[in-house]
Amino acid sequence: MQRIVDFGLDVKEYVNLVSRLGVRALVIPVQFMLCPFCREPHRLWHHGSYSRFMDDGEQVHKSQILCLFCPIEGKTVSLLPHFLMPRKQATCKVMETYFTKRHIEGLPQAVAMAAATKTNPSRQKGAYWDRCLEKKAPVLMAHLRPRRTEEGALLPRLVRHLLHGFASPGEALCVHNQRLHARFSVWLF
Ligand SMILES: [Zn+2]
Repeated sequence: MQRIVDFGLDVKEYVNLVSRLGVRALVIPVQFMLCPFCREPHRLWHHGSYSRFMDDGEQVHKSQILCLFCPIEGKTVSLLPHFLMPRKQATCKVMETYFTKRHIEGLPQAVAMAAATKTNPSRQKGAYWDRCLEKKAPVLMAHLRPRRTEEGALLPRLVRHLLHGFASPGEALCVHNQRLHARFSVWLF
């Protein structure tokens, strides 16, 4: 199982801390130490870590993800920092910049991608993110419950709803991802 945790660190702070002191130095909010599988409340055990790439738009960092373990069920829980999505190298900020440039500002895919990340701005990746977002449209609309129905193409409408009420880049996707998972057990992407 993967859970998203706000360790109170941004990408660089997370990468620096983990490279200097290891994942054991991360301060885990108390609710994430509790077992999500068992009815009887108990604390999870530390269970090492695995490597993950993280693209913050400037560079691709290689860092570690902390794993916890329930000895009763024999299941692991990995704690992804809040700026990541499951199975995506790009951080929320990179994806949000792409979606804003592509669907709000209407820039061509290659230009939107180049604005989002310097590391590997491939158009295929942007197209793939668009398909991921499209697939999630029904559950996203149920989650966002927009007050007024807007006209126009699906993706620009979705992105406008996602960004509504958020000022800083990266924040909207992070927050919606956590809320969506808490309510419907699905990730944004
Ligand atoms: Zn357990």
